[in-house]
Amino acid sequence: MEHETQNLIMLGRSGSGKGTQAKLLVDEFNLEYLGTGDLLRAFTERGNPAAIKLKEVLMSGKLVPSWFAFFVWMEKLAYTNIHKGLFFDGSPRKIEEALILDDVLEWFGRANMKVILVDISREEAYHRLINRRVCSQCGKGAYAQDAGAKCKYCHGELTTRMEDSPDAINVRLDWFDEQVVPVIEHYEKKGNLVRVSGMQSPEEVHQEVLKALA
Ligand SMILES: [Zn+2]
Repeated sequence: MEHETQNLIMLGRSGSGKGTQAKLLVDEFNLEYLGTGDLLRAFTERGNPAAIKLKEVLMSGKLVPSWFAFFVWMEKLAYTNIHKGLFFDGSPRKIEEALILDDVLEWFGRANMKVILVDISREEAYHRLINRRVCSQCGKGAYAQDAGAKCKYCHGELTTRMEDSPDAINVRLDWFDEQVVPVIEHYEKKGNLVRVSGMQSPEEVHQEVLKALA
């Protein structure tokens, strides 16, 4: 099936399942994937002074400045065939970034960009994240059924990730409400926001996104 070039941004609270949706869409439309975290981690391998400093910032858990995110996006964009669509995963994360990215995409002739929000409430996000576990043996993800539940693949102990402590979850959800919600409102005003309910199965979410993009 022939598609027109899709330029997509995907946003959603932590726990919304947007990672799964991102992978499905990138495959479906053969998009160039821009995951800011991945691009920044790759940059740290370059061994130059900026890479060394960036590595320290990432290890300390501090925020990377917006201009650095633009630097790695621009490098990717500059080398991407203009007929290949883009997929921004979880970015822009601040209104200032959204405004500059509008300019950038227009300059590259990609102003037809659409923004997909996988929508779940803060309460639902918290509930999903607080119950999330990872197997200490095989590393597969799981949800806590009861206190002594074991991994269904290898019967290993299920543990909670450090980033899924109540405090760490609330920091991420606060960030979303304070910084990302204004970004969503910006795109809603521009008329390129596609809001899809994350309260359905991953396949149903995917089908709803495809319908909205058609
Ligand atoms: Zn396991």
